[in-house]
Amino acid sequence: MSVNAQRKIAFVGSESYPFVKTGGLGDVMYALPRALIRQGCEVRVLMPYYNCIPQKFKDKMNFRGSFMMDLCQDGRAFFVGIMETELDGVIYDFIENREFFDWGNPYTGLWEDIPKFCFFSKAALAALNFLEWVPDIIHCHDWQAALVPVYLRTRFAPTPVGSARSILTIHNLRFQGICSIGHLKYWTGLPDYLFDYPVFKQNDDEANMFKGGLAYADRVTTVSATYAQEIQTTFYGEGLDGHLRYHKDKLHGIVNGIDVDIWNSETDELLPAPYSAADALEKKAQNKLALQEKLGLDEDPGKFMLGLVSRLTDQKGLDLVNAVFEELLDENTQVVILGTGDPRYEGAFRYYESQNKGSVCAYIQYNEALAHQIYASSDALMVPSLFEPCGLTQLIAMRYGTIPIVRETGGLKDTVAPYNEVTDEGNGFTFDRYEADLLLDAVRRAKALYLENRERWNEMVLRDMAKDVSWEKSAEEYLALYDELGTAN
Ligand code: ADP
Repeated sequence: MSVNAQRKIAFVGSESYPFVKTGGLGDVMYALPRALIRQGCEVRVLMPYYNCIPQKFKDKMNFRGSFMMDLCQDGRAFFVGIMETELDGVIYDFIENREFFDWGNPYTGLWEDIPKFCFFSKAALAALNFLEWVPDIIHCHDWQAALVPVYLRTRFAPTPVGSARSILTIHNLRFQGICSIGHLKYWTGLPDYLFDYPVFKQNDDEANMFKGGLAYADRVTTVSATYAQEIQTTFYGEGLDGHLRYHKDKLHGIVNGIDVDIWNSETDELLPAPYSAADALEKKAQNKLALQEKLGLDEDPGKFMLGLVSRLTDQKGLDLVNAVFEELLDENTQVVILGTGDPRYEGAFRYYESQNKGSVCAYIQYNEALAHQIYASSDALMVPSLFEPCGLTQLIAMRYGTIPIVRETGGLKDTVAPYNEVTDEGNGFTFDRYEADLLLDAVRRAKALYLENRERWNEMVLRDMAKDVSWEKSAEEYLALYDELGTAN
């Protein structure tokens, strides 16, 4: 039996695939627990019971019980229900309260989200006590669960769950849960001394939930080694760089993986022509042709297809793409964009499509099936992010034999080795400074190899498909961290 056989881990976070996913956090909340189960851990995931969870999942949940919990400064009591389901060995406990979670979407704006996630964080700990399931580690994710380490060491310290240790993972530091000190004081009901500079206070008027969680967590992790360094600098630190430097001894970077069962081109039912490394080159061309037909692009598998699958926000480097869009195009190139977000990017990409019918498609939607088809069909995927804690799309691309073109930041830097023409090594094309001309240059280098030296290009496709982008190695690193913190008594 391995040393980890008895580890009990509770995950607390605001979203998890397949129930609710708005981005990479949802992928990690799904895949990491499964990888930990494979390593012999017992894992429970606690997340809100949102109204938008598809009925087919709700139908399979069992009611585990309910209780009343006080929350605010004035001791208002709130209903907490627990709905439970199991998926591949992972137990999911959904925290139910219609007042907070019946609105439909997970995130509805900070004014409602702050009370919502104050309630959720406290209710998650209360639920663990109610279920009489005391984990060794409570692994919390992003600002929505950042109050958990604080409640754990204060209000819950004398309760059974108080013996657990906590880890807080930063998936994206840009979102922190900031509001007036009075607002957070009221909703958390936490004592005044926590609203000073070492914990929640960040300036004369405002409190910051993430900041408090980072101070109280036993360990802090983020999703790549490079991002762990970057967030200690002013440029990437989102105002918390000083706080993170102060806590740097407990900060670790562990890169994300992807779920290699979901992202498996050989068994992917969403693809017209599933493929393995043995027939990738031929089948990728078939998928490209099918996608060109579906999206109204010129049907020619010889075209260099550049994909982009992304939330459309400035984080993702879309200003660079926008600045050189027309120059990316030529008679050999097609661009396929899938994403939703900021109206200025949605509008810009729609405009480019209207001006370049047959060679540009801007699909302004969240569409899981199309995402799979773009990863399979494209020759290269652009991820030119301004900052990128880890990034999953470049990992998925490599697994599907699609060459990533990335800026050397955060997890992109840690996962994509730059192509070296001399030694013929590397996984993709990279550039360092946040400059549109450098993106253009990287795309041109990729296109040149594709058009002029297909043999070497194809070797890189196969090299990328063989690269290990699974969770196994990272799950082991998390286990080592859990072990460092010991077991609950
Ligand atoms: P982030 O979490 O910052 O949005 P990541 O690269 O970590 O970025 O994760 C993005 C995830 O969301 C990937 O699984 C990607 O395929 C998916 N995704 C992003 N936009 C879309 C979209 N419009 N349709 C389908 N999937 C999308």
